[in-house]
Amino acid sequence: MAEFTMELNDEQKEVRDWLHGFAADVIRPAAAEWDEREETPWPVIQEAAKVGIYSLDFYAQQYFDPTGLGIPMAMEELFWGDAGIALSIVGTGLAAVGVLANGTEEQIGTWIPQMYGDQNDVKVAAFCSSEPDAGSDVASMRTRAVYDEAKDEWVINGTKTWATNGGIANVHVVVAVVDPDLGSKGHASFIVPPGTPGLAQGQKFKKHGIRASHTAEVVLDDVRVPGSCLLGGKERLDERLARARERAKASGGERVKNAAMATFEASRPAVGAMAVGTARAAYEVALDYATTREQFGRPIIDNQGVAFQLADMRTQIDAARLLVWRASWMAVNGKRFTAAEGSMSKLFASETAKKVTAQAVQILGGNGYTREYPVERMHRDAAIYTIFEGTSEIQRLVIARTLSGMPIR
Ligand SMILES: Cc1cc2nc3c(=O)[nH]c(=O)nc-3n(C[C@H](O)[C@H](O)[C@H](O)COP(=O)(O)OP(=O)(O)OC[C@H]3O[C@@H](n4cnc5c(N)ncnc54)[C@H](O)[C@@H]3O)c2cc1C
Repeated sequence: MAEFTMELNDEQKEVRDWLHGFAADVIRPAAAEWDEREETPWPVIQEAAKVGIYSLDFYAQQYFDPTGLGIPMAMEELFWGDAGIALSIVGTGLAAVGVLANGTEEQIGTWIPQMYGDQNDVKVAAFCSSEPDAGSDVASMRTRAVYDEAKDEWVINGTKTWATNGGIANVHVVVAVVDPDLGSKGHASFIVPPGTPGLAQGQKFKKHGIRASHTAEVVLDDVRVPGSCLLGGKERLDERLARARERAKASGGERVKNAAMATFEASRPAVGAMAVGTARAAYEVALDYATTREQFGRPIIDNQGVAFQLADMRTQIDAARLLVWRASWMAVNGKRFTAAEGSMSKLFASETAKKVTAQAVQILGGNGYTREYPVERMHRDAAIYTIFEGTSEIQRLVIARTLSGMPIR
């Protein structure tokens, strides 16, 4: 087990500086254009693939870094560049993690390379769990997967929503109900291979922020996938369902509800790190502006009212980073989240990003309210962090339930 450290080692510093260079030289200059276009920034993803940032190798290296700091450090730097473009670059990683976490070695080897494509023909992947009537309440999911034993195929029907890269992905990872009596314990994940008939993009959303990231509905109409596309395989699924049925029987047959709320505990610090990146970016712009903009014959930072805001902003960003790093270290080193530390980190970092970006707009005055300055975009982007991967309210619910052991509603 790696000891918890707040100091990046030399190799990590090198990677951080390299990522920072890419974020500053490639991502940041392209941010305003792709925000306006509201389209996937394929040329930037391609550039990231060329230098090795958009690749399974890079992602896996950071993911398995024993200090736990690899992923948060990478996310912070990329999202410091721009949240929408960075999500277009790391969105595939979210689907890849779904396969890494649940797939067999063969599935990992087959599908993850197809998620990324290659340098000359980059592809993206999508993770489709949310539905119009199943957002926070994952257990209400209705997309159904039924096994056709004669053909060894699964038939999937339903509508997914809010899928990052949904419809434009080469590979879709789809979560579906295989046993409706078991709530979220009756869910399973499937690979939908490229070109599978029956999968279509529905509405593409026009969003408030992270507009360079593609978000859309995914409609599944009698989608047939081979048995080998069930992540983890049929035998493991049958064993898992049998155990869940036993537990449901023991608890008087009560439907197992909302268990998935805690499932993402280990991945939440990564979203916290994205929020830290956006917050830090806005803080830096505000600090720079406050030291150069003059009113009443002196820089505006000369006023405590402005300087104290910057002091609070920086304090909260550093505190958020510490919570994120702690939770990420815990996740990588198999420490139990006895106080929902993953949720804590996501909750605090995402709320910090919203607050800090709003303060940055205020410090830039009229300029902060225009698209001439990046804090306006950063403020719009920051609003996503308190919504996806579990809203702030759901994080509080997970934390409160974990602390109290009570079924708080
Ligand atoms: C840009 C974007 C990208 C996304 N990407 C993906 C993706 O790639 N894959 C994917 O599967 N999903 C994705 N999502 C979906 C995202 O995870 C959901 O939007 C989120 O889980 C919230 O669900 P909802 O939107 O249905 O809100 P709801 O669950 O309807 O919540 C609405 C409000 O009610 C509150 N609320 C709900 N239940 C409770 C409760 N019990 N106690 C207190 N308050 C409560 C919420 O906190 C929220 O404020 C994405 C969403 C967005 C906007």
